[in-house]
Amino acid sequence: MSIFAHPDFDHHEQINFVSDEASGLKAIIAVHNTNLGYALGGTRFFPYANDHAALTDVLRLSRGMSYKSAMARLALGGGKSVIIGHPSTDKNPDLLRAFGRALEGMNGRYVAAEDSGTSVADMKIIHETTEHVSGYHEKIDAQGQVRSGDPSPATAYGCFVGIKAAVEHQLQRRDLNDLVVGVQGLGSVGFRLARLLHEAGARLLVTDINAAVLQQAQEELGAHVMSPDQLMRAPMDIFAPCALGGAITPETLTHLQATIVAGGANNQLDHPDTGDLLHQRGICYAPDYVINAGGIIDIYYERLGTHEPARVNAHIDGIHATLMEIFQRSAATDTANSALADTIARERLMPLGKSA
Ligand code: NAD
Repeated sequence: MSIFAHPDFDHHEQINFVSDEASGLKAIIAVHNTNLGYALGGTRFFPYANDHAALTDVLRLSRGMSYKSAMARLALGGGKSVIIGHPSTDKNPDLLRAFGRALEGMNGRYVAAEDSGTSVADMKIIHETTEHVSGYHEKIDAQGQVRSGDPSPATAYGCFVGIKAAVEHQLQRRDLNDLVVGVQGLGSVGFRLARLLHEAGARLLVTDINAAVLQQAQEELGAHVMSPDQLMRAPMDIFAPCALGGAITPETLTHLQATIVAGGANNQLDHPDTGDLLHQRGICYAPDYVINAGGIIDIYYERLGTHEPARVNAHIDGIHATLMEIFQRSAATDTANSALADTIARERLMPLGKSA
């Protein structure tokens, strides 16, 4: 397997291949860029088809974290880790502790956090063998309630802020009253976002593969439930992808009626070129790693030890200005929002004295 010639290798600073025979741990830790600070990013536990698929994922995801933190104006670099295996059958405390020891050996160049396949409880076990893990503390939320290290409420709030920015730019209005929003995926982020949208007066079309959350959204939020395919064709103002990546493809764009795409999912575009298609069709796209940065902002303050809800939310509110800058520069230069976000992120990652 070639690494330096891999199509997703982007001058990553460090790639660690980790194994522990006794516990069955097989993991890859990638540090993409630390120009702005130590690398922070989630640990994904996933049954990759092969090692190559795991490497591809960690290379892409770690670069995405560098871009996300740079756009959120955090003093953080980008990194990510993947543990190869099935989270429900291969995960065990010894494996997580062995993973923690590998993190400890990196001396804080990379700090792990929760991601798909890992939980706050897992972060607590990893913390038994290293300090270089985040998302295990209890925090006080804006309502004064104690909650776990789960970053999804902050991610959902950031998406809500981002949707308002997109509406302001695209529809020239500051309220969401009676706007129709299609939410794809009502999980930790999507359901919370749907609740915020409902409270702001938006009308909801929702889809998920979990019938229980659909029923809850119908009863609690008056949402109109649809099949995944129906939602992609339904008349709506805003499409909010909050499930898996790859929701926006040339195929889905032939049916999509929304003029705004803004949601919490990572890797929403199936390919970078799809960002150009969105631009050509006049659809305002809020680049995923900009609008869904609320969670990393939340974790950043947790690491600093200064996690006050008002301070965290004020930082998350900055997503509005960042998106406005992207939308305005995009309009002025006739460049896709997605490409422009990448350009700004690379500018911010450059060491002082060099240019992008
Ligand atoms: P989650 O697993 O809690 O929720 C995902 C939801 O999508 C589930 O309800 C699931 O049933 C549903 N779903 C799965 N496949 C679907 C399909 N084909 N059609 C419709 N619904 C489907 O995950 P989450 O934490 O809410 O994260 C959602 C997305 O946001 C992911 O892409 C994640 O990477 C991204 N994200 C999450 C955070 C965070 O703080 N949790 C931060 C940044 C980005």
